[in-house]
Amino acid sequence: MFEQLKTLPQDPILSLMKTFREDPRTDKVDLGVGVYRDEAGNTPIMAAVQAAQERLLATETTKAYIGPAGTEGFNHLIGQLILGQDHPALRDDRVNVVQTPGGCGALRMAAEFLNLCQAGTTVWVSAPTWANHIPLLTGAGLDIREYPYLDKATLSVDFDAMTACLEQAAAGDVVLLHGCCHNPSGADLNADQWSAITDLVERKGLLPFIDIAYQGLGEGLDRDAQGVRLMAQRLPEVIVASSCSKNFGLYRERTGALMLISANAQQGKAATSQLLSAIRSHYSMPPAHGAAVVEMILDTPELMQQWQHELNGMCSRILELRAGLSQALTPAGDFSFIERQRGMFSFLGISPQQVQTLRDEFGIYMLDSSRINIAGLSTETLPRVAEALREVVE
Ligand code: PMP
Repeated sequence: MFEQLKTLPQDPILSLMKTFREDPRTDKVDLGVGVYRDEAGNTPIMAAVQAAQERLLATETTKAYIGPAGTEGFNHLIGQLILGQDHPALRDDRVNVVQTPGGCGALRMAAEFLNLCQAGTTVWVSAPTWANHIPLLTGAGLDIREYPYLDKATLSVDFDAMTACLEQAAAGDVVLLHGCCHNPSGADLNADQWSAITDLVERKGLLPFIDIAYQGLGEGLDRDAQGVRLMAQRLPEVIVASSCSKNFGLYRERTGALMLISANAQQGKAATSQLLSAIRSHYSMPPAHGAAVVEMILDTPELMQQWQHELNGMCSRILELRAGLSQALTPAGDFSFIERQRGMFSFLGISPQQVQTLRDEFGIYMLDSSRINIAGLSTETLPRVAEALREVVE
């Protein structure tokens, strides 16, 4: 059986990281990998997470199974974190949340669920979108189509092209949107655009599927969720995939959630029963530890305060680096889009050749698409990166 198999090429990000590790230069800079980095270049365990883990270790009494939906406390608190405590959809009992193995688990189970609703459902994704969206959705049997999203000249949202394309979608089609901090472009919808897309989706009978993997890292926990909250209020059905990987720094603990917003409690119950059956046939149940940590934080006022303080610090650091890089690059052209964009990623809009020059001559690593992880910069490396960039673009 195995004899006929060919070795697949390595994932481009992983092979880039290998080249980075093997680069002997001591002043090399990694702007490739998509994890948050602090000023020292580390991805530390957040202090609130560390404190919650210590409490858990002292109080946990069992490792018995938790069930396909995960833990009720986590699901309830994540629902409130995303929607806000007094959201009408929560009051009207239209919200069901299940804990998943990371944001990827949420995306994949949402895809399996959509395929159960209607086999081969069409999902419209932004061009570009996070590369992993495609295999996660097609792997469940969904059909992918793209809508234009980014204006390559200005690196901002091409809203007219986006809406003109989505006017062609058929009733029952699904539209995948990034809740905030669009990966890979950093270009987000503003409040008016969220409102206009909500109108469009409602008028055409489309189903929004929102991936929110960076809540709190764009402009803050509430502002980053404005699109989700609006759609959950105005539309009968919304699917939301969320992740605790970035905002709690729990990457390897595989902690995420899938939220189904339904027209009413009865339909929500039926939909959730289908989803839980799909979960049982895939991985049975999610891992417990990361969600227990998140639940402990969200349920303990002093840990919640500490976590929010740390998260706000991460968010401010990214915003400051954005402003700093944008200003430092100004002599070489208009890089103001970097300051306007949100979250960890931006495209620099330079050619693959220029990306290669930065790698070869300056030891600065980014994806061939010129996507950089802003958090990979520091106040120490930023001037050097800006200088090298000015040199290759001028
Ligand atoms: N969605 C997007 C847009 C992401 O960038 C990521 C992580 N890179 C995820 C979902 C899922 O993350 P995880 O499975 O690690 O929680």
